[in-house]
Amino acid sequence: MEKVQVYKFGGASVKDAAAILNLRNIVEQYGAGQPLLIVVSAMGKTTNALEEIYELARKQHHYDEPLRRLEQFHEQAAVQLELKANTPAQLRFDTLLRQLRQQLEVLSPELEFDEYYDQIVSFGELLASLLVAHCLNAQTIDCRTLIKTDTTWREGKVDWAETEACVLAQLPSHLNQGPVVTQGFLGGTSYSVPTAQDPNKTLLQERTTTLGREGSDYTAAILAYCLRAESVTIWKDVAGLLNADPKFFPDTVRYPEISYRETIEMAYYGASVIHPKTLKPLAERGIPLRVKSFLDPAAEGTLIHDCQHAALAPAFIRKADQCLLSFASKDFSFISEENLAVIFSALAQAKLKINVMQNSAISFSVCTDYSERRVHQLLDLLREQFTLHYNTGLTLFTIKNYDAASMAQLTAGKRLLLEQRTRHTFQFVCA
Ligand code: ASP
Ligand code: MG
Repeated sequence: MEKVQVYKFGGASVKDAAAILNLRNIVEQYGAGQPLLIVVSAMGKTTNALEEIYELARKQHHYDEPLRRLEQFHEQAAVQLELKANTPAQLRFDTLLRQLRQQLEVLSPELEFDEYYDQIVSFGELLASLLVAHCLNAQTIDCRTLIKTDTTWREGKVDWAETEACVLAQLPSHLNQGPVVTQGFLGGTSYSVPTAQDPNKTLLQERTTTLGREGSDYTAAILAYCLRAESVTIWKDVAGLLNADPKFFPDTVRYPEISYRETIEMAYYGASVIHPKTLKPLAERGIPLRVKSFLDPAAEGTLIHDCQHAALAPAFIRKADQCLLSFASKDFSFISEENLAVIFSALAQAKLKINVMQNSAISFSVCTDYSERRVHQLLDLLREQFTLHYNTGLTLFTIKNYDAASMAQLTAGKRLLLEQRTRHTFQFVCA
């Protein structure tokens, strides 16, 4: 097979019917002439809306209004994209909306939160990919038959060998016939459950998993890796990889070319332009990643690949909604490796990821993304052994490749609750 190109279109690039028509122009203009795999996210803010509906449905509160809004939003896009009644695509579209309703109806507070989250939130990508494939008159393939994960709900760990086998068994023959559309963010897992009749017998059940919020970039990278693709292009609403998010920082600069390593670090610190897991599989197989603007597709964008470059402009990365937790041993004993092991294991159990950490003689602090549910789970696990304090609503700033001027500029007028500096990176948490 000829080398494949992988295009990834995120939520903003499919936010309504007009955006999907713009996507079609890009595909026609730039994607012709070689096999093309298209990975799409849920439309606009659909994933957030589904999260909200899921939380309500689980608590058995009213969710009809937000659900109706979500349905109408997709129905309107379907009409504008001329999805004709009684065609297979339209029947499938109706089936998806019906299945979503049915699955919401049976939710209850006892069910495993993360597992059922994946089953509901995945409808965003299923609906979006259907509409995009219809608009392009392209084939679709269900990503859950390609990307195989374990049952780590909401953060599925990819089984690379099985995924590669599934991708190579299914995708090439489709790609030879024209563009193929698939869903970002989703994976499939099968696991055994005891049968109702005989608890000693098990049944293999297929379930949906997700790869973590904003995980569609990672999907594109996984598929590109398996296909040994020529390149991946992420189409965004910004001009490329910038040194800061223009929503929060004035005077941003674009990096025309940047190495995998630099980009991995920026993504790790929270630069929201690329999902942090995306770079590793691409770097491993030397597949270049382009970040381009879907609003100005002819513009150069950024090329991320294996390259050497001179010093880069400092990158400013902002992570909002942070929580700073401090653990102190109750008996004034020092924070020891044994204590740290207990804290780390509780953090892992509560699925809280550490963004920065620092220790002093009798206390240990970590900054994590805030989730009320997860923080309470952590507190329950550690309360007996440690005194815990936490502050929420904080922001973590990172300057990569900092200098005196950039540090002074960013810290001016802020009250720093924690700061840390290494050779290339300066980080602080503030209110
Ligand atoms: N739709 C998912 C999300 O918003 C995945 C993605 O956009 O990459 O998190
Ligand atoms: Mg999204």
